[in-house]
Amino acid sequence: MKLPIYMDNHSTTPCDPRVVEAMLPFFTDKFGNSASRNHSFGWEAEEAVDQARKQIAKLIHADSKEIIFTSGATESDNLAIKGVVEMYREKGDHIITSSTEHRAVLDATKSLEKKGVQVTYLPVDKAGMINPDDFRNAITDKTILISIMLASNEIGTIHPIQEIGKIAKEKGILFHCDGTQGVGKIPVDVQELGVDLMSFSAHKIYGPKGIGALYVRRKAPRVRIVPMIDGGGHERGMRSGTLPVPLVVGFGKACELCEEEMPVESIRIAAMRDRLHEGIINALDEVYLNGHITQRLPGNLNLSFAYVEGEALLMGVKEIALSSGSACTSATLEPSYVLRALGVGSDLAHSSIRFGLGRFTTNEEVDYTVDRMIKAVNHLREMSPLYEMAKEGIDLKSVQWAAH
Ligand SMILES: *Cc1c(COP(=O)(O)O)cnc(C)c1O
Repeated sequence: MKLPIYMDNHSTTPCDPRVVEAMLPFFTDKFGNSASRNHSFGWEAEEAVDQARKQIAKLIHADSKEIIFTSGATESDNLAIKGVVEMYREKGDHIITSSTEHRAVLDATKSLEKKGVQVTYLPVDKAGMINPDDFRNAITDKTILISIMLASNEIGTIHPIQEIGKIAKEKGILFHCDGTQGVGKIPVDVQELGVDLMSFSAHKIYGPKGIGALYVRRKAPRVRIVPMIDGGGHERGMRSGTLPVPLVVGFGKACELCEEEMPVESIRIAAMRDRLHEGIINALDEVYLNGHITQRLPGNLNLSFAYVEGEALLMGVKEIALSSGSACTSATLEPSYVLRALGVGSDLAHSSIRFGLGRFTTNEEVDYTVDRMIKAVNHLREMSPLYEMAKEGIDLKSVQWAAH
């Protein structure tokens, strides 16, 4: 086993060597511009792009014409939300999303709010799930779009997408789904789910960084969006710019591998995740699971270790790459907004660690991590007067603290 150990697969994943191999010729020999119509270099690149588009579409049961390439899921989220609002603003100016979406969605809706768009942020329950009835109740005659993620990047909770899709269709509201964490990890069928637009990204599924896709439904309904970038009219006019053919090819290969390996891989990863969880809770008390116990991504484990500061814990296990809360918020010391939305108290939110297991995680790494977590948590708790008091049976809520 090699150190350091990577257990932060929600932030990004390593490129699968088979993906790299598929990409390599397209940097050198096959370097053509897929939009060049006049020579074999262009045709060769176009053919490779067509094949990748099919591989990507197949993973989510879409038609390849419905796949729009972008630079990643952040761009896809922005393009979907802003593009729909700009296109359909005459019809209405109200959109619905949830309080635990990724920053890419929440910051896009914030920027629209500044332009006068009305936004409703649906709450989540203790397991981080939205209630479809809350969506139904939030709908007004001005609602044009709902944006709900497939699965949480922080706690792994999988939302009831199909139910939301049904309501959206019934009410004639477009449905955007940020599928970034779920696509490639759990089965996704955009027809079954009733999704009209779906964002996802290659680097979360063992593909390269810098490429993502937006699925845009072409039939029933035919969804139209205003592009964010003006230019040559690539990607059916929705996203101009020369395609990064090597990245497109890698994205396609990554999707193909996910589709082939998902049935076996998801079981293997979930078993390692459970081994990690059990190893930890068998040895430590006051460890709490954040998220849903069953409706959860196979590779996700988010735990709060009471009486321990998450950042301090990470410092104690530096040879394991983990994340406290969300990687995007760990630059600041604010507790995760996702955990707060579940009603997790500030103390336990500060004590949370996200484990992200993936294709290249091994049982040996899991066992090493269990061992190190137990030692590090015990060490920090030994130094914690609060933990000592709690162990002595003192109710901390009853303690009269001296001047604050
Ligand atoms: C990572 C992630 C994004 C952003 O994707 P990029 O391709 O890095 O821009 C958006 N949404 C979710 C849920 C994510 O996990």
